[in-house]
Amino acid sequence: MENKINITLSTTRKEKPNPETLEFGRVFTDHMFVMDYSVTKGWYDPRIVPYEPISLSPSTMVFHYGQTVFEGLKAYRTKEDEIFLFRPDRNFQRMNQSNDRLCIPHIDEQFALEALKQLVAIEKDWVPNLEGTSLYVRPFIIPTEYYLGVAPSKFYRFMIILSPVGSYYKEGIKPVKIYVEDNYVRAVKGGTGTAKTGANYAASLKAQEKAEKNGYSQVLWLDGVEKKYIEEVGSMNIFFKINGEIVTPALNGSILEGVTRNSIIQLLKHWGLTVHEKRISMEDVYNAYKNGQLEEAFGTGTAAVISPIGEFYYNDVQMVLNNGETGEISKKLYDTLTGIQTGTHEDLFNWVVKVTE
Ligand SMILES: *Cc1c(COP(=O)(O)O)cnc(C)c1O
Repeated sequence: MENKINITLSTTRKEKPNPETLEFGRVFTDHMFVMDYSVTKGWYDPRIVPYEPISLSPSTMVFHYGQTVFEGLKAYRTKEDEIFLFRPDRNFQRMNQSNDRLCIPHIDEQFALEALKQLVAIEKDWVPNLEGTSLYVRPFIIPTEYYLGVAPSKFYRFMIILSPVGSYYKEGIKPVKIYVEDNYVRAVKGGTGTAKTGANYAASLKAQEKAEKNGYSQVLWLDGVEKKYIEEVGSMNIFFKINGEIVTPALNGSILEGVTRNSIIQLLKHWGLTVHEKRISMEDVYNAYKNGQLEEAFGTGTAAVISPIGEFYYNDVQMVLNNGETGEISKKLYDTLTGIQTGTHEDLFNWVVKVTE
């Protein structure tokens, strides 16, 4: 593929939003990255162009059968006004794993990272500087063939759009209440749970709505067969601290492997803690709770980094953890990871990629 990225700058600039009141995913920057795929040309015409609507025939495959993949990562501004990306190579690697599952052609991971760096460099003034804020990066691929047949598309579009986002924790890191879902499931082994694809999110909405109606903020997903074993929490991976040791569900063919999950396991081991990746049932967690051994629970993902869990609702029982307060390990992990991401903590594992010098 011709590796030169064509750049067309916008003749106008949008007003930057107030970083104090930023929401998630509502405001987009002035430019986006786009490249197309056809069977004969492969990926071609990589370009950075003004952010604008796209025009597609109503018969375009993207509107019908959900053959899509996406990624999510963030760019951070440091105190020295440098722009950092956190382990972006892992996101493009995972995008290709998702592509495999969805019959979408691979992208060149190094080229995608180069394109992202160029785009973020152009948009660097959009990276907010308030503590906890960042520039959210959304790479995604859609099928663009005009065809109603059920088959892998012969044409695709890869895009990267950028959105300044506010702090997940406006009033400090705070535990959430979780509804253990025993009817709906997110994914099953053999399905698409390990791929970051829109369909998994569509499948999750009904249970999320039910949890919210009952006063809970997220769903704890159990396995799709026996509905006994813990999978994930909302769109985050989940960890427990039981009797001084850390436990997280092993990757089992239906769990999405988070970059945050992987980073946390490395950090915990570096601190000398024991981490078990194993099958864990809700019954195990309930028994640990009854015995006073369930010390902490938290979700992990790019959006919140760490989301401490203050309560589980399971089988008509309310299990309150740690008096509904943030646990020690949750707090330490949050401070360390966000410190690495924003340059105030030593980058122990070479995770950070600088966009600007
Ligand atoms: C994206 C995602 C995660 C978290 O992944 P990170 O790379 O840590 O952001 C976890 N579970 C699901 C279902 C996801 O889609």
